[in-house]
Amino acid sequence: MQPYTLTALRDALGNVDAATRKTARMPRHSFTPAVEERDYLGWRDPSAPQRGYIFVDGVSGPEGIMLTKTRTRNSVKRAVMCEFCRIPRRFEQVALFTAPTSQLQRDQSTLGTYLCVDLDCNARVNALRPLTPLDPPAEELIAARRQQLAQRSLAFVRDVLERASQR
Ligand SMILES: [Zn+2]
Repeated sequence: MQPYTLTALRDALGNVDAATRKTARMPRHSFTPAVEERDYLGWRDPSAPQRGYIFVDGVSGPEGIMLTKTRTRNSVKRAVMCEFCRIPRRFEQVALFTAPTSQLQRDQSTLGTYLCVDLDCNARVNALRPLTPLDPPAEELIAARRQQLAQRSLAFVRDVLERASQR
């Protein structure tokens, strides 16, 4: 990802109204991995923890969406997989996020997907190492997974934005 200002990121949120865009906050921590080492930029809002943001590099700047983390049912204790990085994780490390598909608040339509709770798939993907001697070297492994991560995150953001633009 390229680095962007908070103003540019707020303006890029295409699935919420202007008033909601203004309330988006940057995380209090610095990004690890760094923004440049990420295939999408995501974080949970420090002032509204159920809220998250995902941004991808668009043709002429960032493209982004706001999502809401749904409450997890603690009875479901199984391994789950994030739809972006596809790395199996413990159930509490993956959550269902729903993104509004309309800028109109009265319109309740959403699109949902399971994602790493901290919206930081690159922390896992960039740390991948070969598990057996038959696996490709780490750089190849990571490069291939990062390409898939970039494609999946871009596809989801575009899907939400496309629906939002039609309402
Ligand atoms: Zn993930």
